[in-house]
Amino acid sequence: MAVCAPVENLYTYSVPGDLRPEIEVGKRVLVPFNNREVIGYIADIGLDDKDIDYSLKDISDILDQKPLFGSNLIPFFRWISDYYLCPIGMVIQSALPGGLNALPFKSGTITDKGLAALDSSSIRPDQRIILEQIKKNPGKRLPPPLYKYYQLEKKGLISIERQEPANKAGPLTWTYVRFKEDHRPDAIINDSSFALKADNESEFLECLGVTEGLPLRDLCSMFSNGNYLAEKWVKKGVLEKYTKEVFRDPAGTIVNPSSPPDVLSDHQETVLSSLKKGMDKGAFATYLLYGVTGSGKTEVYYNAISHVIALGKQAIMLVPEIALTIFTEGLFRSRLGNRVALFHSGLSKGERYDQWMMMLRDEVDLVIGARSALFAPLSRLGLIIVDEEYDSSYKQEESPRYQARDAAVARGKMENAIVVLGSGTPSVQSFHNSEKKHYHIVTMPERVEKRPLPDIKIVDMKSLSELENIDKKKLLSPILKNALMENFEKGKQAILFLNRRGFSRIYLCPACGESVKCPNCDLTLTYHLHARELTCHYCDFKLVPDNRCPSCRHEGMIPYGFGTEKLERELVESVPGARIARFDRDTTRKKGQINRLLKSFGNNELDILVGTQMVTKGYDFPNVTLVGVISADLSLGFPDFRAGERTFQILSQVAGRAGRGVDRGQVIIQTFNPGHYAIESAKKHDYKSFYEHEIQLRELLNYPPFGYLACIRLSGNELGRTQSAAVEVGQEMRRILDGWPKKGKEIQVLGPAEAPLSKLRGKYRWQLLLKSKNSGLLHYFLRRVKDQSVSILKGSGVSIVIDIDPYQML
Ligand code: ADP
Ligand code: ZN
Repeated sequence: MAVCAPVENLYTYSVPGDLRPEIEVGKRVLVPFNNREVIGYIADIGLDDKDIDYSLKDISDILDQKPLFGSNLIPFFRWISDYYLCPIGMVIQSALPGGLNALPFKSGTITDKGLAALDSSSIRPDQRIILEQIKKNPGKRLPPPLYKYYQLEKKGLISIERQEPANKAGPLTWTYVRFKEDHRPDAIINDSSFALKADNESEFLECLGVTEGLPLRDLCSMFSNGNYLAEKWVKKGVLEKYTKEVFRDPAGTIVNPSSPPDVLSDHQETVLSSLKKGMDKGAFATYLLYGVTGSGKTEVYYNAISHVIALGKQAIMLVPEIALTIFTEGLFRSRLGNRVALFHSGLSKGERYDQWMMMLRDEVDLVIGARSALFAPLSRLGLIIVDEEYDSSYKQEESPRYQARDAAVARGKMENAIVVLGSGTPSVQSFHNSEKKHYHIVTMPERVEKRPLPDIKIVDMKSLSELENIDKKKLLSPILKNALMENFEKGKQAILFLNRRGFSRIYLCPACGESVKCPNCDLTLTYHLHARELTCHYCDFKLVPDNRCPSCRHEGMIPYGFGTEKLERELVESVPGARIARFDRDTTRKKGQINRLLKSFGNNELDILVGTQMVTKGYDFPNVTLVGVISADLSLGFPDFRAGERTFQILSQVAGRAGRGVDRGQVIIQTFNPGHYAIESAKKHDYKSFYEHEIQLRELLNYPPFGYLACIRLSGNELGRTQSAAVEVGQEMRRILDGWPKKGKEIQVLGPAEAPLSKLRGKYRWQLLLKSKNSGLLHYFLRRVKDQSVSILKGSGVSIVIDIDPYQML
């Protein structure tokens, strides 16, 4: 039994006879745990009566009529729990659609037959006590264990009401609005006795008039005063409200469905035949599909999925962003029909519930989603695709802190499925795995129809005219500005990319482009405005900044960093008349916004899209012929050992958005570091040269894939306590390691250091970094640390988080 409590192990309970017939792996149960009732998940059933241990506690209720997942998922849940050091109950809880986690509520009332029984002497004393209790407290919550009431219910002595918790997702009804039978919109609009007050009132009525009726929520999203207008016209007797049960279709509006191309390219065919061979074998294997942007990976995925379905199996396809699931789903649903489920955290609880149940009922061949879709309860899994496998959004930044790409390989192995990791810019780790022959590599080195890769131009911001620009605090160089104007005049679209992480300023030399680095970690130091000092966020190395550049001795170092809003403002002036939109987490927070933004960009209703990482992802907009990168230096200066890798990926991906149609694309990258290997390789579309350079650096400093990392983060409301807790945990770590004369040297402890985001949501944050070549040893050590830290942190108000294979050390 996996209980929903912060404990690592599975627990054993006995099953009272009444509940026996219903016991099944994957059902939720209610169990007593530490004097509370908690939800547990049945993970295993030991059937042997002879082995019954009478000291075991009883399960007090079974909550589900049908299992919520199959037993095939148990080993996978366990793996996640073990590898990422997260209690297994928590892993299962977070995998299941929300709304299933609230405790159900059961109450009882005594029946007439029950009352009669109380007056007779025909019932057992223990049952008499229960009946008396229920009689005294009609409709009150039944105290556990619940199974003991079921017998009484069966005999008709009591009735049990099952009250589902309020937020439980179930079938859904929506409120709709429509015109009453003999009312038409034009008549109303032209009738002067109705004064139409709100500006959009006639639009509202017209819009509703052309339909049979619309959901009120849709009206509200189309018209900000939708609710008001609906109420008003209902009162006037023109409109009416009604409710209708709906099946939640999370697809929303399908963006850009497309029919398959007539023929696949030779590269597509070759790759596909390797994948098919693997699928036909039916044994686990991982393929790294390295196909440049625009090489047509989506068609390969589609064909691979069709093949696995034809084999009678199912597929999961992971995409890095929720926005992309919409895009991808449109395509797949238009071709595969309705046996496609969608699963990601952007869906409402109810939608997630519906999709999950569809999968359980085996009504699904393909699940598309962001990382959480990896837990899809499919029983015939044959293929897992991880698109844009390098993407760091596959790492979940809350517990369980798993990496969905790595976990996909683990699940594939457990279920004998083929795993395809696709990318135009493979992660250093995956490429290294393919070199080590852990993964099969399959490549598509050309764009479809031999469309050229875009031309990449580097603007050296160090040149004098650009320097003047900096002084004027302008973000666009004249070259980029002119290119934008020209592109706009030709009626083409542009994407501008700015890696905004406002907090992080690097200390940059405008003469040579170098930023100051940590001598121990090769990490760019972050400039702290308040303290006026430079810090390394791995090892806490500190430096008082010098106005003079350490590499070229130029005097006049500058703190450097800015955001998308500023860029948007500058654009409005620089490209007059252009329709500009911003695409980042701020502007896409609301449901449906992403969809709308993508749609209007796709329909050419916008000329320039400004955005953060989100715009670099795999969208396909054929009319985009210009892509600008405002500053490659911001991602290079990121306090992360993957800064070089990320920069190469971002530049290549963002460049991949240009010229995907018939017209050739142009890319302009602004930087102070034109000579940096990541930028030079990106300019030449040369992954290999980037990889060779990068892998050497990694080896030199024992960074992944040569060593394993873990980040221990401490956070608390008080700076002093948080810091001293971090110091204590660090001391404890070193003490444990000192006690292991030989093995102890295999683990390196860095820090504690203040986290780059030293204060987040009111919490002070400190961190320690662990490095080791021995993953097993590191895990063993971390379990020790975790246990010890419980007593160190007790009562300190400081909490600890262990992040295995961390991606964000902010
Ligand atoms: P990638 O994901 O590799 O960057 P996409 O799968 O988005 O590339 O494909 C790029 C474009 O090429 C899409 O517009 C797609 O419809 C088109 N395409 C894919 N395969 C073919 C083909 N065999 N022939 C013609 N066009 C194709
Ligand atoms: Zn350092």
